[in-house]
Amino acid sequence: MAVPGRGLAKGLAVTLRTMTRRSHTAHYPDVQPELPPRSRGVIALLEENCTVCMLCARECPDWCVYIDSHKETVPAAVPGGRERSRNVLDRFAIDFALCMYCGICIEVCPFDALFWSPEFEYAAYDVHDLTQEREVLREWMRTVPAPPALDPAAEEPKELGAARKAAEKAAEKLAAEAAVREAAAVEAEAAAFGDVDTAAASEAAAEAPETSEAPEEKGETS
Ligand code: SF4
Ligand code: SF4
Repeated sequence: MAVPGRGLAKGLAVTLRTMTRRSHTAHYPDVQPELPPRSRGVIALLEENCTVCMLCARECPDWCVYIDSHKETVPAAVPGGRERSRNVLDRFAIDFALCMYCGICIEVCPFDALFWSPEFEYAAYDVHDLTQEREVLREWMRTVPAPPALDPAAEEPKELGAARKAAEKAAEKLAAEAAVREAAAVEAEAAAFGDVDTAAASEAAAEAPETSEAPEEKGETS
C-alpha cells in the first residue's frame, strides 16, 4: 500500500545524506586531473613508421581517417640494379568529430604507427576544427607512455634478435678491419726501420776499412 509522502521522505533522506558528504569537484582547468597513464584520450601518429598502406583508413568504421600520398622513384642502390618506388605521405588527418574511439585503426596498423595518447585537451568551438592534421598527431606522440618492459623470461622478439645479430656482425667486421689496418701499419713501420738500418749498415760498411785497419797499423808501429 502506498504511504502518502513516502517518496518525499526518501528524497529528503538522499538530500540530507549527500549534504554531509565531502564534494569531489574537479577544479579543471586550474587543477589537472590525475588520469591513468594509459588513458585513451586521442590517437597519435608515429610518422616514420607509416608506410601509407591505407589499412587504418579502410578499416575505420566511421571513415574519419584521411590519407593522401604520392609515389616516388628511388634510384637503384647498386649500378645496374632495379629502381624502386615508395609511397610518400602527403596528408594524414583524423576527424575527431566523427571518431568513436574504437581503436580499430590502432589495432590493424601493421607497422605500429598509431598509438593511444592520454592527451585530451583538444576541444574546439567549431566542429570543423576537430579534424587534426599530421603535425598535431605527431606532436601527441610525445605524450604516449613508453611500452612496459618485456618479461625477462619472454622469448626474444624476432626483430630484436635480427637487429642484435646484425649489430654483432657489423662489430666483428669493424674489429677485423681495424686489425688488418693495425697489422699493415706495423709492417710499414718495420719496413721503414729496416730501410734506416740498411742505410746505417751501408754507411758503417763504407767507413769499416779505415776503422779496421787502424789497430793493425797501430800494432805494426808498436
Ligand atoms: S578509433 Fe575507430 S573511429 Fe576513430 S579513427 Fe580509429 S578506427 Fe576510426
Ligand atoms: S595502417 Fe599504419 S602504416 Fe598503414 S596507413 Fe595507417 S598508420 Fe600508416
